[in-house]
Amino acid sequence: MSLLFKIDHYSVSSVTTWRKCQRQWWAKYIEGKDQPAGEAASFGTQYDMMIAQRIGCKLGKPEKLPESWVDGVAEAVEGYLCQPHALKTATQAQVPVRVTPDEWNVLCEMQGFYAEIKKPIIGFADLVDELKRIVVDLKTSSRKDTRDEWALQVLFYSIALALVEARIHLFTRTKVGAYYDFMVPIHPASKKWAMIVLTRAINEIEQALENGAGDELVRLPGYHCAWCPENLDCCARNLIIGG
Ligand code: SF4
Repeated sequence: MSLLFKIDHYSVSSVTTWRKCQRQWWAKYIEGKDQPAGEAASFGTQYDMMIAQRIGCKLGKPEKLPESWVDGVAEAVEGYLCQPHALKTATQAQVPVRVTPDEWNVLCEMQGFYAEIKKPIIGFADLVDELKRIVVDLKTSSRKDTRDEWALQVLFYSIALALVEARIHLFTRTKVGAYYDFMVPIHPASKKWAMIVLTRAINEIEQALENGAGDELVRLPGYHCAWCPENLDCCARNLIIGG
């Protein structure tokens, strides 16, 4: 079977993996290697789930409640709901987003450029207020910073759902947890940036699938190696940044 058929959609997180390290993307999405979700990932998932539950909004993705909650999730959620910026007016959580190649083509043309992709882009927006047209992506991290991939994610949701405001609500799991509210401007230039980044990365992936070039793909070591299924025997990580 051609590798082109192995992938039937893209997501912002798969594109983000590709942009960070192409070889990691191949190991995860083509070879099916993955690392079990660590405590930090489980904390993040449960944090999102509990906030949606506490706000009482409609869930777009049926999720089974965990048998036990990770330590500190309930306190972190309580703290979030006390923040003036918390999106307590959200009407929906885990909103499914799907843009077909034809729709993507039209959206890009509306921004003044031509772009073609072969498979849909999908995702789930954490919190959406349908009346005010706001999307919020909830993040938990041990560091206080913003990342271009987070902006890419909320911009994609804003473009796909025709929203007018996009925000990232970050909770840092530091000694004393802190909450931050980052606004991602939605205007023609930022939308165009997101569309070009996504289109370009998706077309690079399609080209790699066509070439079947798994071993020759670029290995780019960095912070993300910690979550890579190849990190124990990766030459780039071990030789270049010293394991
Ligand atoms: S260990 Fe790092 S450099 Fe090596 S494949 Fe994984 S992410 Fe890329």
